[in-house]
Amino acid sequence: MRRKIVVGNWKMNGSLASNESLLKALTEKILQTIPVDIVVCAPYPYLSQTQSYLKNSPIRWGAQNVAKFESGAFTGEVSVSMLKEFGVSYVIIGHSERSTAYCESDENIATKFMMVKKAGMTPILCVGETLIEREAGIMEKVVSKQLDTIIEMYGEEIFDGAVIAYEPVWAIGTDLAASPEQAQAMHQFIREKLSSNTKVVKSLKIIYGGSVNPQNALQLFSMPDVDGGLVGRASLNASDFESICHSAEI
Ligand code: PEP
Repeated sequence: MRRKIVVGNWKMNGSLASNESLLKALTEKILQTIPVDIVVCAPYPYLSQTQSYLKNSPIRWGAQNVAKFESGAFTGEVSVSMLKEFGVSYVIIGHSERSTAYCESDENIATKFMMVKKAGMTPILCVGETLIEREAGIMEKVVSKQLDTIIEMYGEEIFDGAVIAYEPVWAIGTDLAASPEQAQAMHQFIREKLSSNTKVVKSLKIIYGGSVNPQNALQLFSMPDVDGGLVGRASLNASDFESICHSAEI
């Protein structure tokens, strides 16, 4: 049985004051013994604050992006080694809000994925189709292509220990979550696609993202190939996030 994982993506939200109350509430509510991996992905400037509140808790912390280069003249970028200095162990890669707004290519995303793995952190790779692509019935083709770029550049084994977040673009921030059956079908497709490497089969986690909330989390997480969730808005509310984390205790 794969241990489930719930990841909060704060996006560009928060302040020192609001983070403090959220982090304090999470550390009070979430018990050391919870049998679920829990991660919060904070904006870069708040990683140090997040680290100081979470370092003695069972909750890990992550970043929402990273540079594809090691270091150098890349104004505004943040490298894997910088993230590691703040105890970051997870990095979201290829979120559709970034790939759309900043025209991030599949090749760029693949390079970042490799950089995160090479640095010993866990990449959380976002894949997913738009509404037009789903309506055209080509969602598996789209997701397959997103994965193929990484496989072609680095081989399937690079997915060993990684997290893939299936995030249909039409479900993010819309309150239109995929149905448990839609999520299951895509998760099964992804798992089968990456099933030829035995290490990957055992260690890969596939989580669902897109309008997860306390009302739909349990049904989604009960599907056999859904290993947890990537949670946006609901991760900004301690009670909602706690409730979602408990829904993964199955
Ligand atoms: C996300 O940003 O990854 C996300 C799924 O957002 P929301 O839960 O708000 O739809």
